[in-house]
Amino acid sequence: MRKYLLPILLLTLFEIIAVTLWLTLDNLFYLINFSYIGFAISLGTVLYLKKYRHARRFVQLFVGLYMLIYLGLICRENMQIEGFWYYLLLGVFDAAVIHYAVAKIFGPLVFGRGWCGYACWTAMVLDFLPYKVAQSPRRNIGWMRYCTFAASLVFVAGLFISGTGHLEEVMFWAFIAGNVLYYAAGIVLAFAFRDNRAFCKYLCPVTVFLKPMSRFALLRIKCDTTKCIACGKCEKVCPMDVDMRDNSRKRKNGTECILCMECVKACPKKAL
Ligand code: SF4
Ligand code: SF4
Ligand code: SF4
Repeated sequence: MRKYLLPILLLTLFEIIAVTLWLTLDNLFYLINFSYIGFAISLGTVLYLKKYRHARRFVQLFVGLYMLIYLGLICRENMQIEGFWYYLLLGVFDAAVIHYAVAKIFGPLVFGRGWCGYACWTAMVLDFLPYKVAQSPRRNIGWMRYCTFAASLVFVAGLFISGTGHLEEVMFWAFIAGNVLYYAAGIVLAFAFRDNRAFCKYLCPVTVFLKPMSRFALLRIKCDTTKCIACGKCEKVCPMDVDMRDNSRKRKNGTECILCMECVKACPKKAL
């Protein structure tokens, strides 16, 4: 039973969120939504513990497709960063604001960049590309994320300032256009830098929230230095270039860890 403590804790955490939002906002949708996501993540964790190779990809598709197709295209909720600004400027604590609060702003204090490893529908597609580990050195162009972050805010603020009508319709089409742009930029960057996760490293505006918050994450990869033989196998499989052998919060690219567990699987000494 101890072995399954993590999935039980994760399921409990999501159920607490689901029930709290359901009762406080009097909306059954939140109970179903967060229960579904919690169930998918817990099931994925169980599959990982049972050594199923594709456990992470299973959760990523289960959650990512649900959010992209059901919430985004069928329910017409803009869950991108533009949707977050939209609801925030409307002064409504709903939809994308709740999604951002749970998955991308406060959640990372507990589960770090788990969103990026197990739920993001952009990375869900990028992870199918051939460069699972970067095959070129990291570029010093992380500043680009601040440009896309500012552009998303300016775009939504501009809609309000200009008094654009039919904002819900506009936000739906912005969701479609935003996703097409993200996928196109992500695929181009992946092939240009031979790195599936180049978009995450340099351009994704959400990382402006994710990086500082995940610095304090409770769940993180730690190294037992008494077991480590410095073979370097862990670093070779990391898609985010994290120095996972350094246990400090300041470790190289520490705020980029997506908890994919590839380093843990690769370690011959079970030091991670
Ligand atoms: S960095 Fe952005 S695109 Fe990449 S997985 Fe995280 S949220 Fe998705
Ligand atoms: S390989 Fe390890 S350090 Fe790198 S992103 Fe995955 S879990 Fe994090
Ligand atoms: S794979 Fe394990 S033993 Fe090898 S360097 Fe990494 S932590 Fe140390």
